[in-house]
Amino acid sequence: MLIYEKSRKGRGCQLLPKCDVEEYTPDKAHLREEAPKLPQVSEVDISRHYSELSRKAHGVNDGFYPLGSCTMKYNPRVNEKTAALAGFTAIHPLQPEHTVQGCLQVLEEGEKALNEITGMDAFTFQPAAGAHGEFTGLLLIKAYHLANGDTQRTKIIVPDSAHGTNPASAVMAGMSVINVDSDQSGCVDVDKLRQLCESEEGKEIAGLMLTNPNTAGLFDPNILEITDIIHSCGGQVYYDGANLNAIMGIARPGDMGFDCVHLNLHKTFSTPHGGGGPGAGPVGCKEHLAGFLPGKVVRKGEDGALHLVKPEKSLGEMKNFYGNFLVVVKALTYIKTLGAEGIRNASENAVLNANYMMAKLRDKYDIAFDTKICMHEFVMDLSRLLKETGVSAMDIAKGLLDHGIHPPTMYFPLTVHEALMVEPTETESRETLDWAIDVFLSLYEKAYSDPEALHRAPETTPVGRLDEVGAARHPVLRFTEE
Ligand SMILES: *Cc1c(COP(=O)(O)O)cnc(C)c1O
Repeated sequence: MLIYEKSRKGRGCQLLPKCDVEEYTPDKAHLREEAPKLPQVSEVDISRHYSELSRKAHGVNDGFYPLGSCTMKYNPRVNEKTAALAGFTAIHPLQPEHTVQGCLQVLEEGEKALNEITGMDAFTFQPAAGAHGEFTGLLLIKAYHLANGDTQRTKIIVPDSAHGTNPASAVMAGMSVINVDSDQSGCVDVDKLRQLCESEEGKEIAGLMLTNPNTAGLFDPNILEITDIIHSCGGQVYYDGANLNAIMGIARPGDMGFDCVHLNLHKTFSTPHGGGGPGAGPVGCKEHLAGFLPGKVVRKGEDGALHLVKPEKSLGEMKNFYGNFLVVVKALTYIKTLGAEGIRNASENAVLNANYMMAKLRDKYDIAFDTKICMHEFVMDLSRLLKETGVSAMDIAKGLLDHGIHPPTMYFPLTVHEALMVEPTETESRETLDWAIDVFLSLYEKAYSDPEALHRAPETTPVGRLDEVGAARHPVLRFTEE
């Protein structure tokens, strides 16, 4: 039942604190003519409504959530506690610098920590999400080429396995996309890349966007050669670091030859996402791009105080003020709680857990690209299962729901046809992994013994199989009064 349907005229509750400033009534011209049609419900109704909704949804707190390429990891409550401190929340972005030195210190320390983790020289926290970070990073690269008089560099190379946001961001940044195929092993085809860069087109190349490990969970062993090829034709290399879970504390994009990176604080650095609140996609870069960063960066002045400084060739503003500041507070809390060793441990466990599951499942499920060792996630290819039983990746995903497991990412990467992409994350115990493995294996058996049952799944969830096409084509996103 919608909260609007529970509404009764005149019912309500006072939840707002008493006003502590002088009351002010705006001009009539600015007042609405009719009161907004908000639901009118009592406090206990609101409270029950939202707990009921939370019981119907599946979150990291409810059970296993191996959504590959999205990193649904546990977000320690201490992060929320820190981010709720009045010193971080009861401030104004236009407050004089000397009154918010603590907040500036969060940005400064956050930047230092991310520099250390990625091997970059400077960061902006303005971008609000991963895709927004990509767009920002590409604008940095564009500004750099333009400043060098390289106006013809308008093409960006994106591998066919890339996250969909990569080509989309490139187009938004006014660049055109050149796709490079992956080779047999699922990695960049180095020979094709070299041919492209050494051809006439090489002079038009602005750069390459890459995720490493890539979306198949594979670390590209030729990474140094790849960044070298791009640099020698005059391009810049962009690292999509949305999921740094396999390598943080172990390997650094800066050392692999990347010039610019974005991170998803809401994936790798433990901030809730997917409806759980705002994210952040900070962008880091090497010295030669730092002068173009958007917004303001925090730097220590000669007076020993922290100041907000606009980079000299700044490309402007990507978002108001300093981005989603409280997300940075959460990320810094996470980084400081773990420490250097903990950060490395988190990566090692993420990789160990993924390999453990992959090794236990590979007797039955086919692993894409015949991967021997994966990074923090792995991709199963269910094409053979579909052919033999009529049970698809979608059916297995729905079957998992009946066991209280959130499905892995489905039908991605696009280079694998019946893909299920599993990312267990570092925080799952051996017992949880063993249980999930048993569920996966039992569904595999079921595909042969009773495929019909899997076509009907899920049967125990609050809603059964949804009309996903209908939901995408005719979404009803708003309550309208009859
Ligand atoms: C999630 C993800 C993105 C996009 O991040 P958003 O915050 O959703 O915009 C980009 N690249 C990769 C590899 C991702 O996994």
